[in-house]
Amino acid sequence: MRKWLPFFPLAMLAASAQGEPVDRAGQWWAHVEALASDANEGRATGSKGFERAASYVVDQFKALGLKPAGSNGYRQPIDFVQQTILADDSSAMLVGAAGEQVLEIPRDLILSGGGGPAPEAIDAPMIFAGYGLHLPEVGHDDFAGLDLKGKVVVVISGGPAGISGTLKSHARSERASWLARQGAVGLITLVTPKQVEIPWTRRIALSAQPALYFKDAALRDSPLPFLNAQWDPAKSGMLFQGTGHDFADLARVADSSAALPGFPLAQRLKVNVAARRTDLPAFNILAVMPGTDKRLRREYVVLSAHLDGYGVGTPMKGDAIYNGAFDNASGVASLIEIARRLQSSTVKLRRSILFAVLTGEEKGLLGSEYFVERPTVPQKAMVADLNFDMALPIFPLTSVTPIGYEESSLGAPAAAVSAEMRLPITPDPFPERNVFIRSDQYSFIRAGIPALFFKYGFKAGTAEAEAEKAWRANIYHSPFDDNKQPVMPGETVKLNDYVTAVTLRVANAERRPQWNRDSFFRRFAQER
Ligand SMILES: [Zn+2]
Repeated sequence: MRKWLPFFPLAMLAASAQGEPVDRAGQWWAHVEALASDANEGRATGSKGFERAASYVVDQFKALGLKPAGSNGYRQPIDFVQQTILADDSSAMLVGAAGEQVLEIPRDLILSGGGGPAPEAIDAPMIFAGYGLHLPEVGHDDFAGLDLKGKVVVVISGGPAGISGTLKSHARSERASWLARQGAVGLITLVTPKQVEIPWTRRIALSAQPALYFKDAALRDSPLPFLNAQWDPAKSGMLFQGTGHDFADLARVADSSAALPGFPLAQRLKVNVAARRTDLPAFNILAVMPGTDKRLRREYVVLSAHLDGYGVGTPMKGDAIYNGAFDNASGVASLIEIARRLQSSTVKLRRSILFAVLTGEEKGLLGSEYFVERPTVPQKAMVADLNFDMALPIFPLTSVTPIGYEESSLGAPAAAVSAEMRLPITPDPFPERNVFIRSDQYSFIRAGIPALFFKYGFKAGTAEAEAEKAWRANIYHSPFDDNKQPVMPGETVKLNDYVTAVTLRVANAERRPQWNRDSFFRRFAQER
């Protein structure tokens, strides 16, 4: 078989079709400005603002000649239930030998409305289960020997040093549904003071947002109501009263990744939850650029980015619109510009490219999960997912971190493009953040589809790392992630070119991508 052009000359893509210079940075940023404008009110899933932003994306796709690939034109409708926890009408207390301690929601604990309907009332004993990691495949199970039935399970984030971050984060993401299947009634996740990424006051502000779950119960994590809560890190000590254990000590152990014990707690947790539930229709946007190879055009390389944001929420400094400019209007803007590059490329695509502009990501990767579980093209025909979420254009792009490159054969095209563009691959500087399972690519991974998630490369302990950390602490998921913040659009143009080049290689390779033999995620491909 003749080898299809496995690379493409960068120069071919460097000018417009007419050979005129184009302000590509300005073009990309103009999409971000349009999508993240105040008029779109933060693009909450199911909102008018999302609808307006979606129309913009569809107009762009149409103008580029992309074909509709939804179940209703470019749209794939999804039925959600919106659940708002009514904090003022809910109550919680700890009950122990010393009496009752009344708790304030959400000041002391935040109840999640995601996953499924919240239980109306819980009065249950509590049990501490260390890191709460169920990983029998590596001989680690924090729940071994603990009686979970009817319990509220309390865990601390983190895990033993000897287990890969990937494995730990996977166990964490499957934890609530696994515990529900064991008969536990709730899960409280604690963080050590060192682990705090978003300050508790901001967490409280975000908790006013309604949560979503699938109207179709078959798609939910747990068939039964299950309580999911987070506790104020400054007050976690109260949970351990009467046990002879001290939270500060346990937090120190967790921070050093040493072994944590499991033991029953001395108090019961009583919670009454008031919630408002309403149906909420929403939709993904799906468009396709058909491939040209007779056989391979029936396969799809998925390019994904979520369009939804946090909508209108608790005001900060008088601003209530959570514009989500970098998270993730920027990613959707990149998809539009990549579509333009592919369309004008002189290299023909063998496989088809499916552009998935997703909803419900901020509500728990829901739009991508729906798309993967109820796909509009055969699930097996999706050969890879290449995802954009919050590639931060706040410092120069000197290297790329294609998260997941060590897990599948997608690492090879990424490495080749890195060499070609002199943008070396930098390993994820903070693997403990587990970003591989924290954006839409994880929905694809769980269905066995190899994926990459593109980030600006930087090393820990550098000025870039400081800038990124400051952005996360002060701007991430706040009204300040807007069009007024400092930005370097020209740097994202380079990243867009990088991903365009990777897309072409994946689309035109003779073989579809495969998980590496030793990849943890290969199991999902084998299960299907
Ligand atoms: Zn995001």
